[in-house]
Amino acid sequence: MALHRKIAAVGQKTSTVGRPVFLDKTQGPTKIAGRTEAQPPPCQSGRRFQFFSLTGQEISIATPIFYDTSTAVGRRVHIITFGCQMNGRDSEAMAAALENDGHRIVDDEAEADLVVVNTCSVREGAETRALGRLRQLVGQKRRRCGLLVGVAGCMAQRLGAVLFSLVPGLDFVLGTGQLDRIAAVLHRLEAGERQIVCAEPRNFLPKMRRRHGRPSAEVAISTGCPMACTYCIVPQTRGRGACRPMDDVVGEVKLLAEGGTREVVLLGQIVNFYGLRQLPTIGGKSPFVQLLERIHSVAGIERIRFLSPHPCGFREDLLRCFRDLPKLCHAVHLPLQSGSNRILRSMRRGYTKEMALSLLHRLREDYPEMSLSTDLIVGFPGEEDADFRETEQLFSEIDFDMAYIFRYSSRSGTPAAAMENQISHGTAAERQQILLQKLAETSLRRNRLFLNRTLPVLVEQFSPKNPRIAIGHSFHGKKVFFPAHGRLLGKMVSVRVDRAGVGFLGGVEET
Ligand code: SF4
Repeated sequence: MALHRKIAAVGQKTSTVGRPVFLDKTQGPTKIAGRTEAQPPPCQSGRRFQFFSLTGQEISIATPIFYDTSTAVGRRVHIITFGCQMNGRDSEAMAAALENDGHRIVDDEAEADLVVVNTCSVREGAETRALGRLRQLVGQKRRRCGLLVGVAGCMAQRLGAVLFSLVPGLDFVLGTGQLDRIAAVLHRLEAGERQIVCAEPRNFLPKMRRRHGRPSAEVAISTGCPMACTYCIVPQTRGRGACRPMDDVVGEVKLLAEGGTREVVLLGQIVNFYGLRQLPTIGGKSPFVQLLERIHSVAGIERIRFLSPHPCGFREDLLRCFRDLPKLCHAVHLPLQSGSNRILRSMRRGYTKEMALSLLHRLREDYPEMSLSTDLIVGFPGEEDADFRETEQLFSEIDFDMAYIFRYSSRSGTPAAAMENQISHGTAAERQQILLQKLAETSLRRNRLFLNRTLPVLVEQFSPKNPRIAIGHSFHGKKVFFPAHGRLLGKMVSVRVDRAGVGFLGGVEET
């Protein structure tokens, strides 16, 4: 679409395109080529052409359409995303870069002639699943002539060229720092290069977007992490931390608001560490709090959320934001990982159980309905029964609304992988079950607090299984399902809550 805007800005001649077409510079400065998708592109050398889809849109062509490629581009691309919200945002940025270059993003993998798997390295299971998917895709090359398969993201950054031996037939490897170069990599492939690795460490912060107008949009404010938790691979795959300039982030939020977005979710590995080393604290307010205040004043934005903060650096100035910034949702996801000080030290988390508990109690006392969620790891090397009981105790004490409870997964290259006293799979699974059972009780108990109440819910999407069921979030971060029509997408709707489950609320629109 950026291409469309660029051409339209010159604005000398207009034509209507009803179907996807190939644009060909050899047809002159003011003419749109007549070849449609159904016709094979000519591949004679010397002819430059580009395919892109502008179904039903008017475009203005003023200058020769010139694309720097001598072979066919214009692929149908499907992106598969594993992992966290940051990866989701990265995938969107890759999609935008590809669309900008004239490719088309397709939802149906079977329709694609380029499949990119954006990977996660946080857990071994995530890498194993991604490798399986890649092998399956490469295996399809025999019957899907011309199919290209690439791997991007954390596993690509971590393993680099090794991936070509793990997945023979793979076409390219694109690390976390190089995602905006995906279009250039594709040009190199089209020119005949094979097995391209682009994984030099570099800070990449996704700015490019595919589309405006989503009711809730994620905005990456920082990348990487300056901490050194002994089990975590992130500092190796995403670097030691960098942040976007504040004006840049606020500018993006304004654009989103103009396009119809009503909620922004600020993303960072440790979101409250934003700008700590680069930007000054002003009037006792950290750079992150300054950023929240600026985003709060953006007209059109009605809700702000952030993911994920760290207990360190969650200070008074940030606590006050929940009182002073009415658009800031009362939902905090605070990854704690363990309730044992011995294990927290071994994990190098940088806080004690007492510090974490004092913060959580403070949040609950000041804002009793605030939704609190966490991440916990069970079966960390050396975790004894007494350590686990402390975690269990902390978990019961706080009554979390939601929690993500993981069995420890060893990552080669991290200090924890070399630690003695690795815990058996069976013990870790048992501990996980204990916490999951507790979670089912606490989540239900917390959600029942909202029964028979009317909550404003931002309609973010419709259920893929039933398009008559709207899905959104309440101000307290509760996922809410209710029957609705498509016209409500992006609207703030009053929903009368009549059902509470583990991790969700159900209700009906109040008229
Ligand atoms: S805080 Fe620890 S767990 Fe979180 S990304 Fe940084 S190193 Fe990894």
